Amino acid sequence: MGLLDILFPKKCVGCKKIGEYVCASCFATISFDTRGICLICGKASFDGMTHPVCLKKYSIDGSFCGVVYKGIMKKLLYQFKYQPYLSGLKEFLGEMLYESLIQQELFQKALETKPFILPIPLSKKRLRERGYNQAELLAKELGKKFDLKIIKGLSRQKETKPQYGLRKEERADNMKDAFRFVGTRGAETAFVIDDILTTGSTLAEAAHALKKAGFEKVWGVALARDQRE
Ligand SMILES: [Zn+2]
Ligand SMILES: [Zn+2]
Repeated sequence: MGLLDILFPKKCVGCKKIGEYVCASCFATISFDTRGICLICGKASFDGMTHPVCLKKYSIDGSFCGVVYKGIMKKLLYQFKYQPYLSGLKEFLGEMLYESLIQQELFQKALETKPFILPIPLSKKRLRERGYNQAELLAKELGKKFDLKIIKGLSRQKETKPQYGLRKEERADNMKDAFRFVGTRGAETAFVIDDILTTGSTLAEAAHALKKAGFEKVWGVALARDQRE
């Protein structure tokens, strides 16, 4: 047991029981049943892929999500964003995402192309406030588990407003031209990683920048899917 575990003992975010971030009975309330959507039109797409009619030259090809963003998951992700001293949380969440992804047939197929992993960057201001980028921590966990290369090739081109509280069209507008690819390509395909997927504007916009830079296929990967819309 490390010093951090003594200072900040692991407690279940649901019922406060000491020992784990989520105890077994609270874990059972987490839903892995994420409903797929097309990130271009926002309508249902059973496997999370972009509808063929929505797919344009620089569109994202689809997205994969781990769990549903509600209840315990909301609390976990809040901690992940604001309490970095919870040192083991990234492994825990990385494992959860991994377990969900390996069950998805299309994800397995995408994996065969050996995609690069690119975390969605935080704005400089947010990064300064928070000290770390939670999408990058997740990307590192996935990189280790799937033996894929991580590149920090996405760069923010403008200060965007927080997406929270904005409607789908406003979100898309807010994120428009937000990213640029600044790395060396080296792979044909990419996974763009974020913690929460709501309408998918952020992932779609990042994918747009990557496709413009020459990537052939780009998929979004998010730990949790916010299905309130
Ligand atoms: Zn519990
Ligand atoms: Zn569509």
